[in-house]
Amino acid sequence: MKYSRILLKLSGEALMGGKGFGIDSNLIEKYSREIKNIHDEGIEIAVVIGGGNIYRGIEAEESGINRVQGDYMGMLATLINSMALQSHLEKLGCDTRLMSGFNIDQVCEPFIRRRAIRHLEKRRIVIFGAGLGKPYFTTDSTASLRAIEIEANIVLKGTRVDGVYSADPEKDKNAVKFDELSFSEAYEKNLNIMDMTAFTLCKENSLPIIVFDMNKPGNLSNLIKGKKIGTLIY
Ligand code: UDP
Repeated sequence: MKYSRILLKLSGEALMGGKGFGIDSNLIEKYSREIKNIHDEGIEIAVVIGGGNIYRGIEAEESGINRVQGDYMGMLATLINSMALQSHLEKLGCDTRLMSGFNIDQVCEPFIRRRAIRHLEKRRIVIFGAGLGKPYFTTDSTASLRAIEIEANIVLKGTRVDGVYSADPEKDKNAVKFDELSFSEAYEKNLNIMDMTAFTLCKENSLPIIVFDMNKPGNLSNLIKGKKIGTLIY
């Protein structure tokens, strides 16, 4: 196996599938199976899920809600997704722990770095919910920072597209896909891989990222084996 400990980032929007809102249960079940498959291979896995399928803080002000309040609503949205994933993983027989960026004791435990590492060593899949517990951050920054904290080998960013393109492939037919990019190249080309905070954290800590298509069955497990899938940013 190429990696022993990974941080998997899934966007909330990906969980929506064909639905306009919320969680597509077939899709989350499919993702859970993919995660279980690599867990069975012995990989230690931490997961961060976004909340964009339910709520995004940035939309708050347009609807008359204070931005910071909106961000906390977004963090709660990530917890809802995290709880759904936890349930699906448990249904498949995986041992899991959900750790939250802010205190919500009746639902999950708080994030404690050493404890998270211990869970991973004990073969539990750890889900980090509620982002970093602070407004003005994103789940991408959560993925980068938590990955650094737990000493993950890589951030695997599962999306609906199969990598990083020179332009949005859903809008521009001439967009070309990159197989790999250095952090500086990605920065110079102004490619939108993660938000700046998240990107800088990875760059400064030499934490590679792979952007890949989570919807293609087997992609995750092939990635772990070292096959060249998606775009590697190093
Ligand atoms: N959020 C936040 N702090 C964090 C993580 C998330 O304030 O550390 C809020 C923010 O409002 C964000 C929302 O939670 O818009 C949902 O997360 P994100 O937009 O990153 O989800 P995704 O786009 O991956 O679905």
